[in-house]
Amino acid sequence: MTTGFTLWFTGLSGAGKSTISEIVERELRALGRKVEVLDGDVVRTHLSKGLGFSKEDRDTNIRRIGWVCEVLSRNDVIAIAAAISPYRAVRDEVRERHGGRFIEIFIDVPLEVAIERDVKGLYKKALAGEIKGFTGVDDPYEPPLDPELIIHTDQETPQASAARILTALRQLGYL
Ligand code: ADP
Repeated sequence: MTTGFTLWFTGLSGAGKSTISEIVERELRALGRKVEVLDGDVVRTHLSKGLGFSKEDRDTNIRRIGWVCEVLSRNDVIAIAAAISPYRAVRDEVRERHGGRFIEIFIDVPLEVAIERDVKGLYKKALAGEIKGFTGVDDPYEPPLDPELIIHTDQETPQASAARILTALRQLGYL
């Protein structure tokens, strides 16, 4: 039986997926675990280079990330996906393919807060119409209906969120 699993972070741009995944990665490594983070922005520079932001391309991107997570997690690695992954159906498809050992974490934040943070300056451009099809502005985001955990990043620090994730992993028997 593998000791690996996949932690799937989904949420709007600027919700805190990358920030929290980095802390969780560090803490899991400190426990002696092998961890690999697949960050949406990074993946798009190689594995998914050339893909755009149509529904079809977004789904292809998520299927690729999902496949890599699947391969890693069945080999004792903890795979962490940090990608917007806006469409419920393809997230559920990735979950199904894992056949268990898949933990979906909804990194939730009110859109207004994400817009206020505007980490990459992209909301400003999207709201000005300079970028089309931006998730949350003029492209859909479908929140998970039954995630293993919901994190409200407007209500606690990234450290507190990471600690709650580690606690949940212990309670679910993954650590
Ligand atoms: P995403 O990966 O979801 O696009 P990022 O992690 O890149 O989001 O950006 C989230 C931003 O919000 C960072 O600037 C981070 O410092 C800030 N932030 C404030 N509070 C939190 C929190 N509780 N959790 C995560 N990020 C937070």
